[in-house]
Amino acid sequence: MSAASGPTPGFDRQGELGDEARVDAAMKSFVREFGVTAALHVESCVRCGQCAEACHFYRATGDAKYTPIRKLEPFRRAYFREAGPFAPIVRALNLVRKPTIGELEQWQELLFDSCTMCGRCTLVCPMGIDIAELVKEARHGMFKAGLVPERLALMDRAARQWGSTATPGEDLPDILAEVSAEHGVPIPCDLPSADILVTAAPAELDAHTKSLADAARILNRIGARWTMHREGFDASNIGFNNGDLALQERLTRALIDTAVKIGAKTLLLPECGHAYGAARWEAARWYGDALPVRIIHMTEFLDELISSGRIRVNRIGATATFHDPCQIVRRGGLEAAARRVLAALGFELIELQDHGLTGYCCGGGGGVVSNQRAAPLRYKVFDLKKGQVEATGAEHFVTSCGQCRITLEAGARNAGWDKSPESLLELVADNLAD
Ligand code: SF4
Ligand code: SF4
Repeated sequence: MSAASGPTPGFDRQGELGDEARVDAAMKSFVREFGVTAALHVESCVRCGQCAEACHFYRATGDAKYTPIRKLEPFRRAYFREAGPFAPIVRALNLVRKPTIGELEQWQELLFDSCTMCGRCTLVCPMGIDIAELVKEARHGMFKAGLVPERLALMDRAARQWGSTATPGEDLPDILAEVSAEHGVPIPCDLPSADILVTAAPAELDAHTKSLADAARILNRIGARWTMHREGFDASNIGFNNGDLALQERLTRALIDTAVKIGAKTLLLPECGHAYGAARWEAARWYGDALPVRIIHMTEFLDELISSGRIRVNRIGATATFHDPCQIVRRGGLEAAARRVLAALGFELIELQDHGLTGYCCGGGGGVVSNQRAAPLRYKVFDLKKGQVEATGAEHFVTSCGQCRITLEAGARNAGWDKSPESLLELVADNLAD
């Protein structure tokens, strides 16, 4: 690969930086990310190759470029050239080459199109290297260099302006009024005080409005004092996926600060995996260890309501299999909660061959589902999941992440498959007992 003077075909650029300035911006950011943990991780890879088989992109394609460790190559080079203990010698003798702009552009596909930051590789690595986390940190440098997929950059610009990738905050009251009328359920908006601030994923204000209405139905059933709020409603956090840390912080603060402002003790996240990663686990970056509100995912909320007897559900009495969303289960630790809810619904659970902590990603996380040029790769990954679902013979195919659902729906459409993933939340709402 040589240093290109223009963009590599198929890869996107933002801003007016020249090639050299882009490489420098990326390298500077990579080096800034090297805390002790990242350095240890980069240093300790023994090239055993175990992470390769763990990655759905490698499994689905067999292409060596999709092995997890390859995704970290320029990051590794930045470390040895700029931050490792022998960096001055490495640089002086050019023992490790500085990445070229062409390599960074090629890397864009590896970091953004073919990594969902699902952490399955992290789980199998015998050295405990958190590749998913390193990919996330590498994305920070790519964003600084203006080298992210244009579809994600577009969403970034919208979120900077609107606080949401798809919905200006000022439109929220009208949209909620429409969802409320369509589904016949009151949805409070902009109340000055409430106990629970409820947030949404973008699809719940568009294609999946039933999910939002169903959340409202359950909250109203338990008599909660809750509201949605135009100042903090979109939990999807595109900054988390794009490597735009400043935006990630702004979007996280919008949710938490709005909850604090209205006196809410609980911030309820929708069925969205990356929302959970960004708000539940990464908010401590900006707030310190003790967050000022309790942040819980919809699945935890449902589990608590059912376990405490605050809602009761009718038993469906059928077989089901469950797709574990990576950010909620493997990265987020909520493996048992969804299974308790499924059990309460009377499902006989037939697990996928790979499930729970070791479940395969849907292929659309980390912004991949929004990156249209990655669709052919996503469809290959979908075949893996489709095969495992079919092998269970289950009557229902359930998940608890709207983004997984969109990815799986698109995959099913493309494959002409008649099975549609169902939302755990919608199943609970549809089967509320009197
Ligand atoms: S985080 Fe997931 S998608 Fe990314 S390299 Fe690892 S296994 Fe593959
Ligand atoms: S599994 Fe871990 S040690 Fe082995 S090649 Fe992958 S990152 Fe390196």
